[in-house]
Amino acid sequence: MNKMYDVAVFHGDGIGPEIMTPTLEILRQLSGNNPSYELAFTDAPAGAGHYAKTGESFPAGSLETARNADAILLSAMGLPDVRYPDGTEISPQIDLRKKLGLFAGVRPVKVSSGQMTPLALPPGKEIDFVLIRESTEGLFFTQGAGEVTEHEARETLLITREVSEKLFRFAFELAKNRKASGRGQGRVTCVDKANVFRAFAFFRSIFDVEAARHPDLKADHAYVDATALWMVQKPWEFDVLVTENMFGDILSDLGAGLMGGLGLAPSADIGLNHAVFQPCHGSAPDIAGRGIANPFAMILSAAMMLEWLGLIHDHTGLSNDGERLREAVEEVTANGQNLTRDLGGTAGTQDAASSVLEALLA
Ligand code: ATP
Ligand code: MG
Repeated sequence: MNKMYDVAVFHGDGIGPEIMTPTLEILRQLSGNNPSYELAFTDAPAGAGHYAKTGESFPAGSLETARNADAILLSAMGLPDVRYPDGTEISPQIDLRKKLGLFAGVRPVKVSSGQMTPLALPPGKEIDFVLIRESTEGLFFTQGAGEVTEHEARETLLITREVSEKLFRFAFELAKNRKASGRGQGRVTCVDKANVFRAFAFFRSIFDVEAARHPDLKADHAYVDATALWMVQKPWEFDVLVTENMFGDILSDLGAGLMGGLGLAPSADIGLNHAVFQPCHGSAPDIAGRGIANPFAMILSAAMMLEWLGLIHDHTGLSNDGERLREAVEEVTANGQNLTRDLGGTAGTQDAASSVLEALLA
């Protein structure tokens, strides 16, 4: 059955449009070759550039487009010298997280042998884990609204039962799906600092309740400091890691580092009814407009989108295409030709993207 999926597209700022255009081209080719589904793209204007032009950073129509879509694809938004009059950054992607209740930030960290990584991988070992970062509360809850006097400053760390339950349910669901697809060990690790903070003991106790519902999966705990150490010393032992907002912020950059940099790090922000797929990197204004940005994190985010759509709509054609797209990027990075400058090559955005398309169609 030919099924149509609506995708809202935020082209964004800086290198955003440069990496989105070839990504959409790849998605068009993929879906064009697969009779079991179609993708319909709708542009959603927003961001710093849009604000500079129109005085609006996130038009209501674009939020509506996002709300009505089956999935949201976003490149990067924000520019250092375009800000609101009070000096705050323009970041519709953070507004989206709040407005659509996207509580789970999903950051896959995957390195197969031959791929770029600063670590020396022991023979036969691959890094393949997923970090889930709670994205609506934690230490980011008071973002911009902490209390500061001349003598002291305070921020609030908020952990709620409601969000934590949704977060852990999602984490165990993901571990189950990974195990079913032969990729994971069926293991979820709660990353916290429960030995010092009562808020994290609370977080952990909610994790344990969800863990008890999944006797078929392994569940354990790790302190965040030890996790940072193990991510460098034995990252191949992890499967699904789930953690608070601030810890997740830091560990996901460490994860991107393991993959050889931000240019290869995709992400998803997932809620109960909506999901946004975007690279971990920002709009990179320092290299915008030169055709040299690495499109791989964007393409890998699009691959995650296909896999997620396939999963929630029980559509194996979509999941398979997502997997093929991810493997095509892995093949090109392992092969080492047509890499952009951040990965040590000399290729431009278009050539790097074209080699992914070639790998796909080969
Ligand atoms: P944000 O605050 O939006 O996260 P940031 O300040 O962390 O942004 P990025 O825009 O992510 O910064 O860029 C950090 C560095 O990485 C910059 O030097 C940028 O040029 C480089 N960079 C980021 N994305 C890419 C990419 N896709 N290809 C090549 N270089 C990139
Ligand atoms: Mg950043």
